[in-house]
Amino acid sequence: MISAASFKYIDAHTHAYEYEEKSLSNYEKEFLLIAVSDDAESSKRTVKLSEDFKAVYPCVGIHPWNVSRSSREDIKTIENMLENSESPCLGEVGLDARMHPETFERQKEFFASFLDIAREYDAILNIHTLDAWELVYELITKKEINRAIFHWYNGPIELMQKIQETGYYISINVALKMQKKHEEVARKADLKKLLTESDGPYIYKGTLLKTEMIPEAIKYLAEIKGVGENYLREKIYENFFDLVKKI
Ligand SMILES: [Zn+2]
Repeated sequence: MISAASFKYIDAHTHAYEYEEKSLSNYEKEFLLIAVSDDAESSKRTVKLSEDFKAVYPCVGIHPWNVSRSSREDIKTIENMLENSESPCLGEVGLDARMHPETFERQKEFFASFLDIAREYDAILNIHTLDAWELVYELITKKEINRAIFHWYNGPIELMQKIQETGYYISINVALKMQKKHEEVARKADLKKLLTESDGPYIYKGTLLKTEMIPEAIKYLAEIKGVGENYLREKIYENFFDLVKKI
């Protein structure tokens, strides 16, 4: 059990298995990480990391970009990993109509399986929704999914309000200062269902996004939302615990 005073910042979406262990040891002091995976192999590594680092909260899954090189068997492997999990999370899963429209049908099949699994285990969904925001929202509400994070949300503002009112979370990426649309999302999002994330390690517009950028992002987010930095940090911390309930 992690006490409320142990961590300051939340990284609600990071591919932590790609970090060096040294970085994770450092992050562990200041951050709590929701670590997503990209396929069956990285899911195993993420689960292992969560055993070695108490700050790592593991999510297992197949990224929509990887469906063409993943199998039904891989989905089964991932489902088996959730069976023993006390705090099940599926991620990174979802749909992407922009970067990989050619695999969209297969993405939908995989996502449908992950939704069944999420229902069965009451798992959190850590989701990728690029250019498929409405469809993802429709699918998860129809399936009565209880807990979900729309990671690095850049969809319509009106839909974001619906997402948050339904009780799902929006996570704001550290790139908000570099991306006008995302800054607008951050400005309009309700603090009640908000998280912060890095998606690290990931290169965006020539900048390597990583977990240690979260404090700077909190500072900027506090500024544009007109709230105190400490208040915001604590609010996001509380939001995280409301979402995960147990860790
Ligand atoms: Zn990601």
